[in-house]
Amino acid sequence: MRVLVVEDDRRIAADLERGLRAAGYVVETVGDGEEAWFRGDTEDYAAIILDLGLPGMDGLAVLKRWRANDRRIPVLILTARASWAERVDGIDAGADDYLPKPFRMEELLARLRSIVRRSAGHASSVISIGDITFDERQMRVTVRGSPVALSPLEYRLASYLVLHRGRVVSQHELSENIYGQEDAHDSNAVEVLVGRVRKKLGGELIETRRGFGYIVPGADA
Ligand code: CA
Repeated sequence: MRVLVVEDDRRIAADLERGLRAAGYVVETVGDGEEAWFRGDTEDYAAIILDLGLPGMDGLAVLKRWRANDRRIPVLILTARASWAERVDGIDAGADDYLPKPFRMEELLARLRSIVRRSAGHASSVISIGDITFDERQMRVTVRGSPVALSPLEYRLASYLVLHRGRVVSQHELSENIYGQEDAHDSNAVEVLVGRVRKKLGGELIETRRGFGYIVPGADA
């Protein structure tokens, strides 16, 4: 899942990158408000972590412009002061949640999972489809109760499709959310990955829609 980190403090940005990558996210980072606004306006992310005090354009203005332009990507705001007025401003501007600095990575990850889930319309971090159970918190997949060893890429692919189940996801969207910009991959990499996930989780889970992409069928559970 691809996440945009908007933070001008290099040290905090590096901590965020490390923590998010360890949790399986693909991370892009920008430290300037104008650049952040442009990326969020033109690219698709599963979520955006947004600092408020930024050079170029402040975080609140960036968020307001996204929302005014109907960009609905879930946004988690980082506030330097735990001021209630700032939080209220953030929520009013269309933030999905906020976290005061300093924060613990565990809490940030929990809030991030929660806003991504809510935006996809799910309430729980454990999703079961037939015999297969995805535990997003533990990044664990079990089939009939037995854990299945997936590589980080396989897990990202499967969990992205499961989180967006009931919707056809294009190869392009999948590849953007599975690979970082730094990972080299060729055009049939997604296909190969789907093949490997099917081998491990069974052929039923992911269906191919020729020319459109892939889908994990099923309604919300
Ligand atoms: Ca800042």
